Amino acid sequence: NHQTVSQYLKNHIRTVPDWPAPGVQFRDITPLLQNPKVFRVLIDAFVHRYMDPALRPDVVAGLDARGFILGSVIAYELNVGFVPVRKKGKLPFTTVQETYELEYGSATVELHTDAVKPGDRVLLIDDLIATGGTMMAGKKLLEKLGAVVTEGAAIVDLPELGGSQKLIAAGLPLFTLLDFA
Ligand code: AMP
Repeated sequence: NHQTVSQYLKNHIRTVPDWPAPGVQFRDITPLLQNPKVFRVLIDAFVHRYMDPALRPDVVAGLDARGFILGSVIAYELNVGFVPVRKKGKLPFTTVQETYELEYGSATVELHTDAVKPGDRVLLIDDLIATGGTMMAGKKLLEKLGAVVTEGAAIVDLPELGGSQKLIAAGLPLFTLLDFA
């Protein structure tokens, strides 16, 4: 039952007020990973969905850095490959880059040019969707290489920030396990 799983997982997210800046309620997912029973429920919620042949991706792409933790385990369980979308300056081989605006300044993310092939169906994953800027940048990188991002997935959506609506409007179906209003 989705409602029960959502509430169970939500009970294991720690809210840290005023971090990393005043006014931000940081939704810390590390307690979900720390407890093996909870970690399994979390991962199985994604694996169950993407095992469906209609939704099973060719590749899982994870967003730096908490998307790596989730994405690599999900990819392993689905028996597909994992590729990292990294913050600028970390990937050693040739890359494509995408710069996006933050509240203050900008950020750049990168992807290896051989990470996906044209036509690959990619599941893009992160821990949380706030403004949606990070996931949008990841989608653009994958599309630069000709891949198709079939769905974006995250544990948490912050619907009041409008990111999930923006991503859906841009043609990205989304799957999130729970919301914080
Ligand atoms: P955004 O690009 O605005 O959707 O921000 C999403 C990225 O920033 C994700 O990688 C999150 O891990 C992180 N993030 C943004 N806001 C929060 C928050 N309130 N709590 C935890 N992580 C956040």
